[in-house]
Amino acid sequence: MKRRKFIQNAALTGLGLTVGTALTACADDGKSKEKAVATTTNSDAKPIIPMVIATWNVPNATKKAWDVLQEGKSSLDAVEQGVMVEEADVNNQSVGKGGLPDRDGNVTLDACIMNKEGDYGAVVCIENIKHPISVARKVMEDTPHVLLAGNGAKQFAIKSGFKPENLLTEASKKAWEKWKVEAKYKPIINVENHDTIGMLAIDKNGDISGACTTSGLSYKMQGRVGDSAIIGSGLFIDNEIGGATATGMGEEVLKTVGSFLIVELMRQGKSPQEACEEAVKRVIKKSPNYKDFQVGYIAVNKKGETGAYCIHEWFNYTIYQNDENKNHKSNYYNKTK
Ligand code: ASP
Repeated sequence: MKRRKFIQNAALTGLGLTVGTALTACADDGKSKEKAVATTTNSDAKPIIPMVIATWNVPNATKKAWDVLQEGKSSLDAVEQGVMVEEADVNNQSVGKGGLPDRDGNVTLDACIMNKEGDYGAVVCIENIKHPISVARKVMEDTPHVLLAGNGAKQFAIKSGFKPENLLTEASKKAWEKWKVEAKYKPIINVENHDTIGMLAIDKNGDISGACTTSGLSYKMQGRVGDSAIIGSGLFIDNEIGGATATGMGEEVLKTVGSFLIVELMRQGKSPQEACEEAVKRVIKKSPNYKDFQVGYIAVNKKGETGAYCIHEWFNYTIYQNDENKNHKSNYYNKTK
């Protein structure tokens, strides 16, 4: 698959960090005096916006989102329409139509969306609806709830005008039938069988939104829900600070509430890169078996500065910024071969 191709020469984007000097008042000698304290702060550089960042090699998705931003539309419209490109792509076996099924052959999808106000909408374990991200947006905008699951989510989608359809393509059915021969169920995501699409965008007003969509872990137990549609885990946006989104072993991301953690670390002054690294290290610290699974994060702050980090090699991400749509290789933790 295209986005699994590893682009050797791409480097992480510049982070524009500076060590600033903060002036604090000390009253130890009874007099107020100024003391220089080194703090890590973002540079005063102008924000590099609009911009789009997404997990994996998804140039068509980032281009769609970029085009939406160029039309002057909101980051919310951009991330929704951006990830819809991948949901509709039957060759993408990890999201939307063509997604790999659970162990019983059901394609179940999870998706969530967040806007600049911090509103959130999500669907989990929804079947037969190609664009769960748009249903998630409708949950956010048209219901008093934030998360609908399973049949309730599907019925809501149908009432909202979405057409139910079979999402199990011949290719995904064949892959599942091959898996069934041994049917070894190991709930382990290795570095090659997952590809959740998480996307973050900043529009020309400087407002940030995010979307995350997946068919989850292939051959999962029926009813299993991962991190991708869960606020704070698969995605988190705080328009004052930035946003983050995840791919990989959902159970591990959920246990460490990774995307929320990254945004909070940025709030404390960390760069997007430092925050992603810290969140991956948190996963590693909690899971001695980290060599068996992958977790990857991407993040952006209010200035359009980006970061990415993962446990194992091969995670990559796409940025559309400064009129350039480019895939980047993520730096990673496990350098042992
Ligand atoms: N994070 C997704 C999940 O656990 C899967 C993935 O990204 O591979 O459902």
